Amino acid sequence: MEDKPREFCGIIGVCNHDAAAEIAYLGLYALQHRGQESAGIVSSDGTRIYEHNGLGLVNDVFNDRAVIEKLKGRLAIGHNRYSTTGSNDIHNVQPLLVNTKDGPIALGHNGNLVNSRAIHDMLQEEGAIFRSTTDSEPILHLIARSKADGLVAKIRDALSRIKGAYSLVIMTRDKLIAARDPKGFKPLALGKLDDGYVVASETCALDLIGADYIRDVDPGEMLIIDENGLTSESFAASTGKAHCIFEFIYFSRPDSRIFGDCVDKTRRKLGKRLAMEHPVDADIVISVPDSSNTAALGFANESGIRFELGLIRNHYIGRTFIQPLQKIRHFNVKVKFNPVAGVLKDQRVVVVEDSIVRGTTLKVLTQLLRKAGAREVHVRVSSPPIKHPCFYGMDFPTREELIATSMSVEEIRRHLDVDSLGYLSVEGLCSAVSRKGDGYCTACFSGKYPVSIREAFRKTQHE
Ligand code: 5GP
Ligand code: MG
Repeated sequence: MEDKPREFCGIIGVCNHDAAAEIAYLGLYALQHRGQESAGIVSSDGTRIYEHNGLGLVNDVFNDRAVIEKLKGRLAIGHNRYSTTGSNDIHNVQPLLVNTKDGPIALGHNGNLVNSRAIHDMLQEEGAIFRSTTDSEPILHLIARSKADGLVAKIRDALSRIKGAYSLVIMTRDKLIAARDPKGFKPLALGKLDDGYVVASETCALDLIGADYIRDVDPGEMLIIDENGLTSESFAASTGKAHCIFEFIYFSRPDSRIFGDCVDKTRRKLGKRLAMEHPVDADIVISVPDSSNTAALGFANESGIRFELGLIRNHYIGRTFIQPLQKIRHFNVKVKFNPVAGVLKDQRVVVVEDSIVRGTTLKVLTQLLRKAGAREVHVRVSSPPIKHPCFYGMDFPTREELIATSMSVEEIRRHLDVDSLGYLSVEGLCSAVSRKGDGYCTACFSGKYPVSIREAFRKTQHE
């Protein structure tokens, strides 16, 4: 069975800078939270192309200065791939690099296409061969096979044929091309560094390398950057934006600015709103670090209940963690979080969590909190129940695996064995972002898919 594409990643592109590869490396390091399965950089000195990639964290893949020094040139793109079990395949590592009639092209993609299967099948029917199981490889085929004149025109042509979510960095021998789908599902920021330009998934990457944030790449916009500077063109009329609202809930770093708003500020508002919607009598508020820290602060501020650090997270797990031979009960959660008994003992505890997907994390955590002496456990979730799978790039499982599709809130409360459970409402979520949620994708909560998913359904049936 073919591996499902899981393109939930971090991307960076650097042009016109002597230290292009080094900057790409640092940018990937800042974007590590967007993908821990693999990392890669492709660079160009205008004549030759250089490439290095591998499975693991950025610092494991780029573990030697000499590796970065070999990535020569003033042009580079980089990619972090998201980690999920079973897809740990070296052939899926990005940026993907191929040779075409018009020269080499490399591509890094964040987001999921909904029509990749249809394109893949059509091309395969015509004899095309594929190396990876990602939905990004068909884009390269479309570029290479386009009849348009020159690589930029071929890229434009390919973009007009793909549908779904994509923030892309594409590199030719002498150009960096950045593009964002017409709905702007995934973030992509443009920055300036010395005489060069940088594009990155999140502004936290620009901060680390000292680049000045200029603006976001617009939905439906393609930037072409080379030694003569930057030009912009629109390759598709915008038919209304659909920014992934889950970026604010879970995925982006709080110190980033995405879709025109600060993640930190928005996430605090989620917590505040949650406290207004589901007040509770309790002694302390704790987060499930790190993803719900900011929302928990918002909850604590609004409710007046003291914020405490009741769970400590081990940050050094990485992918190479050796599973114990003898199975320790709840090992996967325990290895990540440990309760602080002194904080929890005899307390009525509010646990603010950013989201419940399958419900496994919270079920185990509740048991750990009770064992540590918590008298009451009240769960508050800073997002609405996730009832619908995502076809645009979030790693949400099938409907059956999402706990909120088959259970009511009361049933989930009983399943988790907690004293109370409250989810943020969709209206509450929307009130925390700009334009009261207009221009955001909320499909995982509402089932309203902004880009037709008919073709994606066809794909699921295929597998
Ligand atoms: P559950 O244990 O309910 O399946 O997942 C919920 C937990 O996973 C939460 O702690 C949340 O922060 C985190 N989470 C939410 N979305 C994602 C995702 O797409 N990938 C990963 N790895 N974790 C997620
Ligand atoms: Mg979490």
